[in-house]
Order: sequence, then C-alpha cells, then structure tokens
Amino acid sequence: MARIVMKFGGTSMAGIERIRNVASRVKREVEAGNEVAVVVSAMAGETDRLVGFCREASPLHDPREYDVVVAAGEQVTSGLLAITLQAMGVPARSWLGWQLPIHTSDAHSSARILGMETGPVGEAMTRGEVAVIPGFQGLADGNRVTTLGRGGSDTSAVAVAAALKAERCDIYTDVDGVYTTDPRIVPRARKLERVTYEEMLELASVGAKVLQTRSVELAMKEKVRVQVLSSFNDTPGTFVVDEDEVVEQQLITGVAYNRNEAKITVVEVPDRPGSVGALFGPLAEANVNVDMIVQNIAHDTGNTDVTFTVPRTDLPKSLDVLDKAKADIGYSRLITDDNVAKISVVGVGMRSHAGVAQTMFQALGSRGINIQAITTSEIKVSVLIAEEYTELAVRVLHTAYGLDAA
Ligand code: ADP
Ligand code: ASP
Ligand code: MG
Repeated sequence: MARIVMKFGGTSMAGIERIRNVASRVKREVEAGNEVAVVVSAMAGETDRLVGFCREASPLHDPREYDVVVAAGEQVTSGLLAITLQAMGVPARSWLGWQLPIHTSDAHSSARILGMETGPVGEAMTRGEVAVIPGFQGLADGNRVTTLGRGGSDTSAVAVAAALKAERCDIYTDVDGVYTTDPRIVPRARKLERVTYEEMLELASVGAKVLQTRSVELAMKEKVRVQVLSSFNDTPGTFVVDEDEVVEQQLITGVAYNRNEAKITVVEVPDRPGSVGALFGPLAEANVNVDMIVQNIAHDTGNTDVTFTVPRTDLPKSLDVLDKAKADIGYSRLITDDNVAKISVVGVGMRSHAGVAQTMFQALGSRGINIQAITTSEIKVSVLIAEEYTELAVRVLHTAYGLDAA
C-alpha cells in the first residue's frame, strides 16, 4: 500500500464523461490498496472564460477579486469528481484550498505556496476516503483566496505530494509524457523515458507548458517523484529524475518555444555608468520580469541601444514605466515588437560539448531565419526570432540535433 497523488489537467476534466474516466483511474488505484489524493484542474477553457469575465467587468480589476473568480473553475471540478467517485462506490470528499488550508503568499494571481495543513485530510485518507483537492487555489493571510498563476495545478499537486509524504505524484495530461518538443507541432517528437529535474526546469521555464515551472522547482527541492502520463491511455509515461538516474545522456534533450514575450528597444541610451540601472530599476519595481537583454556597443555619439524582452502581457505597463522614467534614463525613443518568439534548446550534455550554439545558428541561418537576440545558460541556448517562423524553427532544430523519431 502506498500514498499517492494523482493530478488531472483541464482536458482530462472537460465534461462528465471525462470525469468518469478520471474516477475509474482513481478507483483502480484505490482498489490496488493505495491511499489517494487527487488534485484537479478546471475544465479546459474554463479558466480562460473566467479571466475574460474579469477583463470585461473592468480592465484594471482588483487582483484579490480576480482570484475569487478564477479559483471557481477548480471548485466545480473537485465537487463533480467527488460526486462521481461516490456514485461508483468510492468514498470521497473535496477539500477546497481554504478548507485545508493551503497557505500561500499574498501575491494575488501568482501566489507562492508556503505550506499546507495535513492533519484532517491525512486522517480522512487513512480512513480510506479519497481526498479531492482543487489545484491552483490557496489562502493568504487575512483569509483571502489566492491563485498560483496559470498552469498552477501542477504545483498544487507537487506541494500536496510533498506535504502528505506521498510515494509519487502522477501528473495525468493530454499527452503521454514529456517529449523532445511539443508533439503537437512536431509529430516526429520522441517521448522521453526519463528527464532530469534540471532539464525539465529549464524546458518548463522556456515554454514547455507540460509542467508548470514552479512545480518542477518544488519537486526538485522536496525530492518528489514526478511522473507525466496520459489520462486517455495506459502507455508508460516520463519520469522526472535525478541526473545520476539517466543512463544514456543526449547532447540536447529538448526544444521549446515561447510566444509570450515582446521586444523593446530603447534607442540612444547614454553610454555611462548607471544608465542601465536607471533603465531596469523602475521595471523591476513595477514587477516586470525582464528576460533577454542585448546592449549594443556605443555609437560615436556616446549613446547605445538596449534591447530586451518582457512578458507580452506586461508590454503596456513596461512602456508606461519607461515613459515616466524617460528623463532619468535619457533615451531618445522606444521601438516595440510583439511579433517575436523565443526558441530554446536544452540539455545537460551541453556542459561538456562545444559547438551547440553554432549548430543552432547555422540551422536557423540556412532556413533564412534571422536571430534578434541570444541568451545562454549552462544547459540552454535561447534565440529570439520573428513569431511567424516559430514552428519552422522548432522543426529545423529538432532535426539538426538528431532528435527526430525514426
Ligand atoms: P493540462 O491541462 O493537463 O495541465 P497542459 O495543456 O498544461 O495540460 O500541458 C500539456 C500540453 O503541453 C500538451 O498538450 C502539449 O501540447 C504541451 N507541450 C509543450 N511542450 C511539450 C513537451 N516537450 N512534451 C509534452 N507536451 C508538451
Ligand atoms: N485552471 C488553471 C489554468 O488553466 C490551473 C491549471 O489548470 O493548472 O491555468
Ligand atoms: Mg497544465
């Protein structure tokens, strides 16, 4: 007998028929003698619908009330799953984020999990009751409902698994594992039997949305055994593991893309100490997460251009901040472009091999794809390109690094 956490995403919970399928899978684990906590997402499309209502009600809405609205999607599916399990003869009870509670920071709409009470829910599980927990929700000081940021149910599941000391955390989704790239845009993508925490973290942070970045961070820290697998078939999934558990190391493990960034070029920034600080300081204060940064060499005039990317949703706020700081920074004008995409290749094999970036530049160049910015880390190279080339670039790189399935 083991204690396990099963997490089901939006597609898996989309409608009563699919919830029945989820309930059968849960029942199977219960009948195998396991104590089960299930973490569920809202039905596919529901969170978008709720976000839309908030925007329609007021473009500049109170984030505390936004959280009250968008957390509702998961409340519905957790109740429905508990009803369905009960109808199948499986004792089950829902435990909403505020009822457990799952304590979070008060960063509404992207709150961080701080801890979770496990007493009563643990006792219920020991009595043989399935605990159904809505993902994405938490509770901040002052008893306000919070949400964890889009895709946050993965993080809820890992946090629940860590708190309940579960043997494993199974993330059921609409693909049967983690692939070398998004299988929806590259049919020749290969499923990985194992992926290291570190690579999964990089892949998630550069756009592979199969797991939310924070969930991988948490799994790595708390040593939670995570598996990604399909809700719709029984094929083996992908295990997220420590590096020493990967036998045959590839040079590149995966390719990811992100269409959620926008590019800003600040023209003619004075090339003197402190000017870059004057530029990025106000953006940091406004909570804008700057990603790629390129500073050009100075012109004869003593000025330089600085190009960087920000989340696309933060573009209006960033322009507003830069406009207000214009006199302090001393630039002449701003150029923006939100038709960009960031393409990244990730692999721990990069640490010991030269020429990885060059393969990327050559492959993209040979297809006429221009590179607008570059960033690297120890196990990742990212480039910014025109958005229209996203799929082509991902496919070309997947082939260039020998990742295509036979
Ligand atoms: P859920 O609703 O179950 O949380 P998500 O839509 O958040 O599911 O994540 C699953 C999706 O992630 C897949 O449908 C797939 O299109 C996408 N994806 C992106 N990159 C990858 C990858 N490397 N491997 C598998 N899926 C990926
Ligand atoms: N329902 C939330 C979202 O769509 C959380 C999740 O599904 O992980 O972002
Ligand atoms: Mg998801």
